[in-house]
Amino acid sequence: MTSRQLLVEIQNPYETTGEWYKGNVHTHSLNSDGSASPQEVCVLYAQEGYDFLAITDHDVLTDILPEVDIIHLPGEELSTPSPCGHMVALNIQVPVDLNISDQDRIKAVNAQGGIPILAHPNIHTTADYGDPSPPDHGWSDETIAILQEFQGIEIYNLITDLYYPSGYSLDKWDAALSRGQRCWGFAVDDAHVLEHGDYPKGWLGGWIVVRTTQRARGQLVSAIRSGSFYSSTGIEIREIQLVNDTVTVETADADEIRFIGQNGIILKRIAGGAGTYRIRGNELYVRVECVNSLGKYAWSQPFYPSGTMV
Ligand SMILES: [Zn+2]
Ligand SMILES: [Zn+2]
Repeated sequence: MTSRQLLVEIQNPYETTGEWYKGNVHTHSLNSDGSASPQEVCVLYAQEGYDFLAITDHDVLTDILPEVDIIHLPGEELSTPSPCGHMVALNIQVPVDLNISDQDRIKAVNAQGGIPILAHPNIHTTADYGDPSPPDHGWSDETIAILQEFQGIEIYNLITDLYYPSGYSLDKWDAALSRGQRCWGFAVDDAHVLEHGDYPKGWLGGWIVVRTTQRARGQLVSAIRSGSFYSSTGIEIREIQLVNDTVTVETADADEIRFIGQNGIILKRIAGGAGTYRIRGNELYVRVECVNSLGKYAWSQPFYPSGTMV
């Protein structure tokens, strides 16, 4: 009698090698309710060492060639009619028709090679703060559950964190992943007013770091689409890789590494700035969360194992 074995295949978002490039994919300018022109916004982010930026104004597509050394990805934030769930449409060439349903917006963005991202799911604006009904510019679990083919969810939004608590939407991401809705988690600024002060409030608080072979628009977009990036509010991931069935992560400045699975359950917790997790095969997904004593985070994208008995 032969014993059966579990054969595990793992979808690994970090197969691409290359360098890490930092960027913000949700930003406003004078094209809607921001405080600076698109070129000025590019200058400010370039001065902060960002490699790329997407200006995503409310219902206005911005596609510019920056006058400074930063790559601009075209985009807009679909925001009307109000109330409605806001959606960032990254890497589109033509504006999206706003007189269509959420699902049709997602289809329209995907159809032109774009990346639809559900913005700030847990936002509570002043008007509805304290109201238990679904947030007017965010996304309820019930709404997300019936949507298909969105490619991302904002898991951290700085402006929402500062003014419309809460900026964190890890709960909605884990709920979607646990339903089998595969999508990437994005940390963003959603910057409107860019000012320097003791603390740069309103920008430089949420970003993504993409690993790809070339610092160019096409490579960045395809790396984002394939999940070859991590999200951060301040922690640097130096290396993340899958070797056989083991995920290894190494950070510059984390104090704890958590490997998280279905329903947001912590599968393994390690003190320090690096760690490994051996995938068993029966997890629906495994993602890595890195945290430090300053309350900063980095989040990997999910690894998707699938096990078959052979
Ligand atoms: Zn918004
Ligand atoms: Zn916005």
